[in-house]
Amino acid sequence: MGMTSARPERVAAVIGDPARHSRSPAIHNAAFAAAGIDWVFTAFEVPAGGGAAALEAMRVLQLAGLSVTMPLKAEVAEAADLRDDEVEVLGAANCIVPLDDGRLRAANTDAAGFIAGLNADAGLEPEGLRVVLLGAGGAARAVAWGLAAAGAAEVAVINRTPSKARAAADIANATGEAGQPCRVGSLDGIAAADMVVNATSVGMGADAAHPGRSAMPCDPTLLRPGQVAVDLVYEPLETAWLAALRRRGVEAHNGLSMLAYQAAAAFELWTGIEAPVDVMRQAATAGRTG
Ligand code: NAP
Repeated sequence: MGMTSARPERVAAVIGDPARHSRSPAIHNAAFAAAGIDWVFTAFEVPAGGGAAALEAMRVLQLAGLSVTMPLKAEVAEAADLRDDEVEVLGAANCIVPLDDGRLRAANTDAAGFIAGLNADAGLEPEGLRVVLLGAGGAARAVAWGLAAAGAAEVAVINRTPSKARAAADIANATGEAGQPCRVGSLDGIAAADMVVNATSVGMGADAAHPGRSAMPCDPTLLRPGQVAVDLVYEPLETAWLAALRRRGVEAHNGLSMLAYQAAAAFELWTGIEAPVDVMRQAATAGRTG
C-alpha cells in the first residue's frame, strides 16, 4: 500500500452488510496511492435499514465518497438528494458522490462498469448484440439497462423467478432510447445469442466447492465456439461454468473487469481524475487464488 499519513486528507468508504470482506478498500486504496492522492478508503458494516443514517453520517463526517453494496442499494437511492437517470430507472445506487453545495448525488456505475469491462476483455461494443442474460437481480437489471441503453439488438432475460425476469426487462426498456430490446427469454434462445451473461449468484462462493451442474447457471453444452460468455461472479475467479465453457472452446470472461471498471467510474466521480484501472484490477486479485 502507498504512504498514508496519520491524518489523511479525505476518507471514503464502502457500506453494506457484509462489508468486512469487500474488495473495495484494497481496490481504492491502491488507486489513491497510484494517483498520489492522500485519501484512505475503509469499510463500514451497515445493516439493512441503516442506509439513510449512513448518508447523514457521510454529511457530518464529510466523507469524500461512498460505495454501496447489499443490502443498501435501494435505501441510499431513496435517501440521496438527487439521482442519476439510471438510479431512477433501476431504483438502486452503488455510489454516493458529495457535491460542492452539500447535496448527495446517487449514481450507479455497475452498467458502465459492465460495458467498459466487456470492451476491455472481449473487444465488444453492445450495439447490435443479441444477448441472453441469466438472472434478474440487481446486477442483472443494471446490465440489462446498460445493454439496452447502448443499443443492443436484443436482451433476453431468463430467471428462476419469471415475474422478476419480466420486471427486469421492463426496467431496461424504460430507457425508451433504444426501442424495446429487452424481453423474457428461454434457454432455447441461447443458440442464437452472440453473448450469454451470468448475472445470477449461482457458482459464487460456496457453490464452487460443489462444481456440479447445480452450481452452473445454465447447461454449458447449450453454448458453442463463436459465442462469448461473461460470468459476473468474481469469487471464485474461475467458476465451474466458465471452466466448462472454456473446455468447449467458448470465449469466457469472469466478473473481474466489471468490478474494476465500476470502481474506476466511482473513483472518477469522487476525485475528478482519471482512474488507474490496471492498478485497481491488480488490487482486486491480489492475494486471491480463486
Ligand atoms: P441478487 O440481486 O440477489 O440476485 C440474485 C440472482 O441470482 C437472482 O436472479 C436469483 O434468482 C438468482 N439466483 C440465486 N440463486 C439461484 C439458484 N440457486 N438458481 C437459479 N437462480 C438463482 O444479486 P446481485 O447483486 O444481482 O448479484 C448477482 C451476482 O452478480 C453475484 O454473484 C454478484 O457477486 C455478482 N456481481 C458482480 C459484480 C461485478 O462487478 N463483477 C457486480 C454486481 C454483482 P431469483 O430472482 O429467482 O431469486
